[in-house]
Amino acid sequence: MNDAALALSTLEVHLDRVARNYLYLRKKLKIGADCAAVVKADAYGLGAAEVAAALYAQECRHFFTAHASEAEAVAAALPPAGAPDSAVIYVLNGPHGMAAADWQQKGFIPVLNSLGDIELWAAAAAAAGKRLPCIIHIDTGMNRLGLTALDVTQLAEKRTALLQGLDVRYVMSHLACADEPGHAMNLQQLAAFRQLTAAVGQAFRYSFANSAGIFLGADYHFDLARPGCALYGIQPYEGAANPMHGTVTLKAKIVQTRVVGAASTVGYGAGYAAAAGDNLATISIGYADGYLRSATGRGKVFVGGQACPVVGRVSMDSVVIATGHLSQPAKTGDYAEIIGPHQTVDEVAAQAGTIGYEILTSLGKRYKRIYTGL
Ligand SMILES: *Cc1c(COP(=O)(O)O)cnc(C)c1O
Repeated sequence: MNDAALALSTLEVHLDRVARNYLYLRKKLKIGADCAAVVKADAYGLGAAEVAAALYAQECRHFFTAHASEAEAVAAALPPAGAPDSAVIYVLNGPHGMAAADWQQKGFIPVLNSLGDIELWAAAAAAAGKRLPCIIHIDTGMNRLGLTALDVTQLAEKRTALLQGLDVRYVMSHLACADEPGHAMNLQQLAAFRQLTAAVGQAFRYSFANSAGIFLGADYHFDLARPGCALYGIQPYEGAANPMHGTVTLKAKIVQTRVVGAASTVGYGAGYAAAAGDNLATISIGYADGYLRSATGRGKVFVGGQACPVVGRVSMDSVVIATGHLSQPAKTGDYAEIIGPHQTVDEVAAQAGTIGYEILTSLGKRYKRIYTGL
């Protein structure tokens, strides 16, 4: 048996489907708009180096991470900064986590989220004696990161002093409710973005749309879109069929089966009452692997293409499922599908009371990872 066949749990990442999702999103953009890839949090759990290399092969040349340390993992998978046809890596959480000289040497571009960030970066530029690249982030309604309207006024007043040292690649903002196409916030944020970028008093290139924003139409596209979730197959917006392809198949092995002797309970807290004769199987996945404990009583997995409910509490390393109704008896060594052809990441998320983003970014370290479709 090979490694994969021995593994207690396997996570297949279908890079060809990530690539297909990328091409689909890029094609939706208006002419002249470019498509980046958001690969923060290890490409939403799929593997930033592998995903970045696969998307680079599709001519993606803009990557966003949250931390500088994540940018290093992405950079290792791409041609070096400054090489012909090299990609650019932007860091959303600002010019922190590394000395200014390291940013310059590695070629990572920080997103400046506050006047403080801008002052810091302008000072670094003065010290380096050259203009330093950056993105400026303006808040249009998230109240999370980015310059406030007041900050923008101040920036406009001090414009020549502060912006002189900066090579502003884009001015960006981020949508709060793009996954709800009818939400009033979308148009409000678009109007605020137009107004605030005009208030800066100088034209730049602009970046606005996340995955869902791409589907809001050309007005939202500007010069660079920043999709994340849709690349990985998560449904980007409510109220329609998901146009994206699932990108992971997650399976866990059945490590024990049993027929319940006398009526008794299953798992911690004796939370599930089993009857005599019930068929149960224990699969090798638990909350330490990102199979969230909140799926207790609501989760299901697929064995031989048939749904099996999770019974009893989700444990750290294992989950018990009911298998008595299967047309073929479940046996040790069979795999149960958690995410895959029978069940999307969004469905698993709904069972655990969360969103697909949290399921993917929680995917654990113990899986045998298999990258397909290179
Ligand atoms: C995470 C993030 C994105 C990507 O959002 P998705 O909803 O996953 O497409 C884009 N821009 C910013 C600023 C982000 O933080």
